Amino acid sequence: MDQAETVRTPSSWVVVGLDNGGTCNNATVLDATGQFLVNNLVENPSRVLDGPESAVEALADAFANILELTSTPLSLVRAVGLDTPGPASAHGVISSKGATNFNQVSWHGFDIRGALETRLGMPVVYNNDGNAAALYAHHQHFGADAAAHSSVAAIVGTGLGGGVVEAGQVVRGAAGMAGELGHVQIPLHGVLEDGQPVPQCNCGFAGDVESIASLTGIRNNLLPYWLTRFPDHPLASEPIATAAKALRGYGEKEDALAIAVFGQQAKAIGKLFTIAANFTDPSAYFLGGGVVEAAPHFRQWFLNTVRENTDLRDEQKAVATFALVPDRDMAGARGAAVAALKTVGG
Ligand SMILES: [Zn+2]
Repeated sequence: MDQAETVRTPSSWVVVGLDNGGTCNNATVLDATGQFLVNNLVENPSRVLDGPESAVEALADAFANILELTSTPLSLVRAVGLDTPGPASAHGVISSKGATNFNQVSWHGFDIRGALETRLGMPVVYNNDGNAAALYAHHQHFGADAAAHSSVAAIVGTGLGGGVVEAGQVVRGAAGMAGELGHVQIPLHGVLEDGQPVPQCNCGFAGDVESIASLTGIRNNLLPYWLTRFPDHPLASEPIATAAKALRGYGEKEDALAIAVFGQQAKAIGKLFTIAANFTDPSAYFLGGGVVEAAPHFRQWFLNTVRENTDLRDEQKAVATFALVPDRDMAGARGAAVAALKTVGG
């Protein structure tokens, strides 16, 4: 695709959104009228494995690159939205125990938001990546009515991320740990088979949503169990990590083993959404992650299975929506930009 066709120049002041990942930063620009200036993924190396100093420079490079690509003068930029994987505080201080992408000791307790703010010399607004994607889904879905609605988003990836949005704002919590939907423990009745071991999560909990509805959950819990039920399956001879990644392709072909695994994931998310229905009674339930990129018939089946397993009262059914989080790879950067725009007066 010719980038010139997918990039616009700004007609007003703007904010920049930067999504920090394990290998790449993704950047976007959002103008004051709510229009994104780039329609495609714009990535630069994130250099997080080289430590905080290199990573902050890489974010500054991504910032400079997206301004150049969109012909945006620096003087038009009012703020930057930044998102990273967690766990981190609500203000962008990486966990004192480190995190999956930030395992060097120099990252532990590092204030990535503050460091980028100092480096760029302008306000930086922080969200974790799940919350950023949840915010983007909410604003994309409700548009001008965003402030009048609430939503919950579950993003299925290596883990289970997401967020809770109330009246158009991310619910952050006292310690910045609200919306950790992956570690909500759910009733397992109707999800697991008789005799199936209770799935274990890396966080130490048993039977939380991430222990089932994540790539890690497939690899550590669901696939090892289901391969005992389908011992002649072609994936039985693959290393478990390879087999877990290959499973979605089998799901798209309606393979019985894959449908059993993804069916359990959808049921687990339905149980989570049932809890959400009784907590915040949201207007919308969003589902994101790799499933969004799956073949349309498969992702629709998955979303329908989530919906069928979400116990709503009739009054709730009449007003609630179930939808996929759009623009999977760009949702983090776009949500970070939305948060920055709201902060500086959008
Ligand atoms: Zn957990």
